[in-house]
Amino acid sequence: MMLRIENLHVHYGSAEALRGVDLEIPAGVTIALVGANGAGKSTLLKAVMGLIRTSQGRILLEGKDVTGTTPLRMVRNGLALSPEGREMFGDLTVRENLRLGALSSGLPENTVAERILDVCERFPRLAERLGQRASTMSGGEQQMVAMGRALMAKPKLLLLDEPSLGLAPLVTDEIFAIIHQLTRSGTTILLVEQNAARALSASTYAYLLANGRIVEKGPSSALLTDPNLRRAFLGAASEQNPAASRLGAAGLTNIRLEKQDMSHLTFMPAFASVDELSAHQLKGLQWTVEHAYQGSSFYREILDLAGMTPAHIKSLDDLKLLPMTSTDDLRDGYPFPLRAVPFEQIVRIHASSGTTGKRKVLAYTQKDLDDWIHFFARCYETAGVTPLDRVQIAVGYGIWTAGMGFQLGAEKLGAMSVPAGPGNIDMQIQFLLDFQSTVFCSTASMALLMAEEIHHRGIADKINVQKIIYGSERSSNSMRQKISELFGGAELFDITGLTELYGPGTGIECSQHDCIHYWGDYYLVEIIDPETLELLPDGEWGEMVVTTLCKEAAPLIRYRTRDITRIIPGPCRCGSLLPRHSRIKGRSDDTFKFRGVNIYPSSIDTLLSNIPGLGSEFQVHLSRDEKNGRDHMHLIVERGQGVDPGRIPELTHEMLHQFKKQLLVTPEMQLVDYGHLPRSERKSQRIFDNRLGDDVV
Ligand code: ZN
Repeated sequence: MMLRIENLHVHYGSAEALRGVDLEIPAGVTIALVGANGAGKSTLLKAVMGLIRTSQGRILLEGKDVTGTTPLRMVRNGLALSPEGREMFGDLTVRENLRLGALSSGLPENTVAERILDVCERFPRLAERLGQRASTMSGGEQQMVAMGRALMAKPKLLLLDEPSLGLAPLVTDEIFAIIHQLTRSGTTILLVEQNAARALSASTYAYLLANGRIVEKGPSSALLTDPNLRRAFLGAASEQNPAASRLGAAGLTNIRLEKQDMSHLTFMPAFASVDELSAHQLKGLQWTVEHAYQGSSFYREILDLAGMTPAHIKSLDDLKLLPMTSTDDLRDGYPFPLRAVPFEQIVRIHASSGTTGKRKVLAYTQKDLDDWIHFFARCYETAGVTPLDRVQIAVGYGIWTAGMGFQLGAEKLGAMSVPAGPGNIDMQIQFLLDFQSTVFCSTASMALLMAEEIHHRGIADKINVQKIIYGSERSSNSMRQKISELFGGAELFDITGLTELYGPGTGIECSQHDCIHYWGDYYLVEIIDPETLELLPDGEWGEMVVTTLCKEAAPLIRYRTRDITRIIPGPCRCGSLLPRHSRIKGRSDDTFKFRGVNIYPSSIDTLLSNIPGLGSEFQVHLSRDEKNGRDHMHLIVERGQGVDPGRIPELTHEMLHQFKKQLLVTPEMQLVDYGHLPRSERKSQRIFDNRLGDDVV
């Protein structure tokens, strides 16, 4: 090891410029130190050279402690600095400037002359200008003189401070070509640069300094290709978007990185096996039943009625012996249903939309909120969101659970949240452009609306959205594809949740995009037949029933969510041990019966998605002929964007064929222009049931 820096602190008065820097430079390689202006790079170099005092930590040169050594001593020890701003003696000639580099080593005259020749060989431009006054040279030539002067001492370690500063790109190329040559000839170099891309491509290993701390380190090639670092440090968005680059250069990204070690946080559970998870679940189930029995008169009553006491829960299998609960129980207990703790422990309530009679209100203790925020951060982590991301949250704030969860989870992870709230497309677009948000959170309808607006304005290449996290609504594959495409190729993640169960964030799609991982360490899932209430085996579609494992204020025992999904058995290819279910297909109370057939709106989604040429928006209008009592289904579907109206007969024919084949119904079809059907920022209504006195299952 040529140089080792351990826990180095430097103060300027009361301001701390370096805050515990650790850094290693092996012999014979080039190490880059990158970071924005003011990050502490030059301070570090000066500390190493002995030009400023350190307040704590050690500097070891080839294993020897050299902390506090004078600059002259450091030069004799074999260090040479090519300083920022070159620091030429303008009145002296190039030759005289070079000689200064050898001054402290007290070499004989002929050796000095030889070394000047060596430098001229490396910098041929200087050979012709040895007699010229340094002040008359160009910036690039002065940089060569500064580097040549440092090389005169044949240093063990060459410290290069901002060699490209103020140079034109072509001259910078020339300087970096020389740095490459020096590296190849075995010179050990510490390269300090503001131009991160250049520094990373000229070095083998790099450290990223922000606000006096090393915030990232690794092989330069890996850092160079890391998309997060590219976004954050290599000119923010892109060369085509100088405004965003300026934002990055202004230090916005560094402010975020001041938070310590966020990048190494994890919100995943520590279970090593499914058995460990099951053991945790059993403990949680026993706790919940005991807690609910002791804390809530409602639960005590229904448990007593079912002949169950907490002592009856001996295994996870005993879950099925417990009574079920439903929205009716929430309504009956309004305004504080299922409450199992005294009011002084409740710190917040949230409520769902709906009229007074239908509004679901849920209470939270501080621990409930902490748990919620923790697993919401896990959602972001599962979607690959990092502290370098900027999360624009376009969902409802206030009494709804949504906004709070999205925001607190993002901040817990260390990402930058942009709490935009729902609606206001103009403002959302402005934020996407100005803040270069990398993650966009909304409902699927809102995401589609935004996608179409982005397309309409032709700005897909000016925004920086990498991921879209959307929820609270079914979404067809064609809708997902369209959103992703129009957003310039963003990756979509369906997030699940419901007010009764903390709020959104109780599960999310993983990188495999074929399942939802749900947080089995916080709640249990059963799937039942919504009509017979019988438990269904893994893999079968039915209604999701949840039981919480540590929820204090309003625990849920076998709560019927009305969401239709199925358990996907077995491990996921993503490697997570956490259990999973399919994306929510619909709600058991959304299904409609048409001429004796139960239809999920999502089956219509799926069917239409598979017919090329159709758009993703549709409406189903159901009516009843009062004379003969027959039901009619009128289906309005948009054509895909740019699809020729001449294809209407062919597309209509194909739709009819598929409806008859897959859903056993024959609706009346109407194909309309793309963009004809209304879009909404919240959930778009697609099923209009106008049948009188119809019994909707
Ligand atoms: Zn997975």
